[in-house]
Amino acid sequence: MRNLNLRILPPDGRVVLSCPPGTPEAQVAEMIEGHLALIKRARDRLQEAGRREFIPLDQARPVLAELLESIAPALLTRCRETFPKQKGYRQAPRLRIKQMSSLWGSYSRTSHAISLNSELAGLAPRYSEYVLAHELAHVMASGHGAPFHAALDKILPLWRPVENDLRHKRLPLR
Ligand SMILES: [Zn+2]
Repeated sequence: MRNLNLRILPPDGRVVLSCPPGTPEAQVAEMIEGHLALIKRARDRLQEAGRREFIPLDQARPVLAELLESIAPALLTRCRETFPKQKGYRQAPRLRIKQMSSLWGSYSRTSHAISLNSELAGLAPRYSEYVLAHELAHVMASGHGAPFHAALDKILPLWRPVENDLRHKRLPLR
């Protein structure tokens, strides 16, 4: 075996593979495929480390937009099925990704838009899912009283531990 070296770099888990010039592509592919589980574990650990690092908006936006494409439809479907009379779900809120200094997310009833903090791009996907579910629950109820929690329980039943972890990352939710 030639001298191939695979590293997973913080903060985002970028994979860097170094190999001697002329290494066959198949050998490189085999090296990566053979280490997928290890790469995933290392990336999970990096995300769990959870240090908030500033991510420039132009880098965060595509990452978070792609993530939202994969999680938003299921949440919205659940909202529509659970609250069929709520117009705010039939017409989905607009999603905005912004730099926000003091909140993870917010919902504006006036513009029927949910804003998500671009820094969510640097955290594990479950945090984006939680913040989106939280803001979707605000379509049903303003404030954080019993009606809000009842809605959130339906939209994302296992939200409590995720919210708890997110609070340790120090931005408030609205
Ligand atoms: Zn809230």
